[in-house]
Amino acid sequence: MRTLHKFQGGVHPPEHKTESSRLPIAAAPLPKRLIVPLRQHIGTPATTIVKVGDHVLKGQMIGAADDLISAAIHAPTSGTVSAIEMHAVPHPSSLPDLCVTIETDGEDRWVERQPLDYRTADPDAVRTRLRDAGIVGLGGAVFPTHIKLSPGQQKIKTLILNGAECEPWITSDDLLMRERAAEIVEGIKIMAQLMQPEEVLIGIEDDKPEAIAAMQAACRSTNFKVIAIPVRYPSGGEKQLIKLLTGKEVPSGQRTINIGITCSNTGTAYTMHRAVNHGEPVISRIVTVTGNVARPQNFEALLGTPLGELVQLAGGARPDTSHYLIGGPMMGFGLNNLEVPLTKATNCMIAVSPTLFPPKPAAMPCIRCTQCAQACPCNLQPQELFWFSQSRNFDKARAYNLFDCIECGCCDYVCPSHIPLVSYFRYAKSEIATQDQEKMAAELSKQRFEFKQLREEREKAEKAARMAEKAAAAAAAKAAAAASGVEDPVAAAKQAAIQAAVERAKAKKAEAAAQAALPLSPTGSQPFPNPLPQAGEGAMENGACSDLAAPENNTEPS
Ligand code: SF4
Ligand code: SF4
Repeated sequence: MRTLHKFQGGVHPPEHKTESSRLPIAAAPLPKRLIVPLRQHIGTPATTIVKVGDHVLKGQMIGAADDLISAAIHAPTSGTVSAIEMHAVPHPSSLPDLCVTIETDGEDRWVERQPLDYRTADPDAVRTRLRDAGIVGLGGAVFPTHIKLSPGQQKIKTLILNGAECEPWITSDDLLMRERAAEIVEGIKIMAQLMQPEEVLIGIEDDKPEAIAAMQAACRSTNFKVIAIPVRYPSGGEKQLIKLLTGKEVPSGQRTINIGITCSNTGTAYTMHRAVNHGEPVISRIVTVTGNVARPQNFEALLGTPLGELVQLAGGARPDTSHYLIGGPMMGFGLNNLEVPLTKATNCMIAVSPTLFPPKPAAMPCIRCTQCAQACPCNLQPQELFWFSQSRNFDKARAYNLFDCIECGCCDYVCPSHIPLVSYFRYAKSEIATQDQEKMAAELSKQRFEFKQLREEREKAEKAARMAEKAAAAAAAKAAAAASGVEDPVAAAKQAAIQAAVERAKAKKAEAAAQAALPLSPTGSQPFPNPLPQAGEGAMENGACSDLAAPENNTEPS
């Protein structure tokens, strides 16, 4: 029996899990059109490798990973690319992003799938497979898994599988563990092969007895340990789960790998199994559709499916629905546009009504009650962070470890003054990030300017040195000439060349005069250069007299 530890803070909001976990996962039908965003992960968006008019097959790569921190994107079914353009996507910023639209052909025809034997393959080949299959963390972070499972020189003691699913209303991981535990365990085996941990722990909140039983049964032939943890939000936070299962704290500003631990989601393990053992990239996911809908349920839907179609599958939203939440009520964000597509990060959508989610009263001034600090699972002082964020004292906010805040919403949840604390923290973080970028850009341009100055000074010095060298050489030559009696060796050489040319011209003239004094040849055009040769002297050979040959052209300058 493993000893469980406690993390500080946390809250226990109403769970609302049973609404969507009564029915099994249902397969969503093939939509007529899929809108597939090229950025469904943290890092650089994938680069489009198809064009409008291309026919694509199910599982065919349509966006390639473009950087180290990136992941590929695939066609979720067969069809024709009808557009590559900006489209609304489910994101807290509400900004559109580049998407590939596919008109589906209804054939659902797969591209060729090639399994990879991870037991014999090079670990880097397995990581490449993960990147090219678009595997990212499905717990919400969507961080590319091939990077997460690259520990470098760091020895990994513990691999933790996160099946806590602590956020209210969401049940997609619960249903996946209940129904596909064996496949999840196959994925965990691939993770273990890559990381070689000493132990593998699977943490699941104890309000999921069916999932716990299924995972225990699937792990029977392994040394993986399934551990039931008490229900307390946010037990599924990476640092909180590590504390619960191992008692270890991840120091501020450090990553879990620094203390020899890696965490991954059970849904991610499932997709790894499909990608490596079956050659199937991430083209679908399980999503909870719940809240103010007629039949809350989990659906396995193709990525790119318009969310409105999923609401219809759940029986449609009731008339008093005001808007939707993507994610849970603690960390999710609001949405009004149901034309946005399902993405790898979308684990849940909740139809919101004033009955289910009564509007918060207007915010009141902080009364310094410190309830927020007691609820904070990261040992922060939210009331101070609020004060610094509101007054734009960002240096102070940073000094109070603003960036350790996981935006879990516990402080919001308990604040009697109903202050939207997390909104302030998000604002402060984005302002600090912008300031940091500006600082970095200014520092870069300063470095460039200084380098340019240095280069110009160096070139000036090199030019001066070259000129000094030339002057020294000329002075030395002059001195040598003076020593040998020649005043200017260069001028003397020139004079000598002129004199030689004059001498040659004179000689030429004299030769021409001598030729003119001789008798004319039989042709009457040329004088005989010499008296006629005598017989017996070999004057006539081969019927011709060589001495009668035409004189050579004179190429000498006159
Ligand atoms: S809980 Fe609200 S009112 Fe109380 S200290 Fe924190 S921010 Fe202020
Ligand atoms: S949102 Fe941030 S500050 Fe508030 S309780 Fe969570 S971690 Fe603490």
